[in-house]
Amino acid sequence: MSKILNEVLHANRNYRADFDKGDLPMPPGRRFAILTCMDARLDPAKYAGLSEGDAHVIRNAGGRASDDAIRSLVISYKLLGTREWFVIHHTDCGMETFTNEIMSDLLSKSLKTASIDSSGWHDSCEGPGSTDGKFINWLTIKDQAESVTEDVVRIKSHPLVPADIPVYGFIYDVKSGQLIEVPSATAAGRVE
Ligand SMILES: [Zn+2]
Repeated sequence: MSKILNEVLHANRNYRADFDKGDLPMPPGRRFAILTCMDARLDPAKYAGLSEGDAHVIRNAGGRASDDAIRSLVISYKLLGTREWFVIHHTDCGMETFTNEIMSDLLSKSLKTASIDSSGWHDSCEGPGSTDGKFINWLTIKDQAESVTEDVVRIKSHPLVPADIPVYGFIYDVKSGQLIEVPSATAAGRVE
């Protein structure tokens, strides 16, 4: 058995041994949702003080307001009653290290894991690759404050998002653990 698979199943045995969350209702008890990056250094339950049943956490690469993230947010309010949303990107995000062109170029050379050094990303070129990567918008990030604001604007201006949901924009600092507000994002997410 894979070492990781073993570790995960072992951890789950410990978790369920004193599990007492079996009676939680489906709708998030604190009625809010967080859209954030999948980065392994981010633990939304810890940085935002969540327990099981408190909030929806939607994660993807960058914490971007992709069509699929918005799909989840719409379900979050429409069917499960959340009333406030956060968009939280972070410092040192991997999404700042490449562009659509770089990603599609790497994928066209091989599907192996690429490596990065001071001169940028490099592919092993072991092939075979695929050119399908060029049909995907990878939603990379040039500037965190800009990306947070852009995503809050995208969410707030979506026709399926009601005007009375405030959306707050923050950057999580991976060095200090602090959530830093992005004023232009929160302004864009304000309820008029
Ligand atoms: Zn990230």
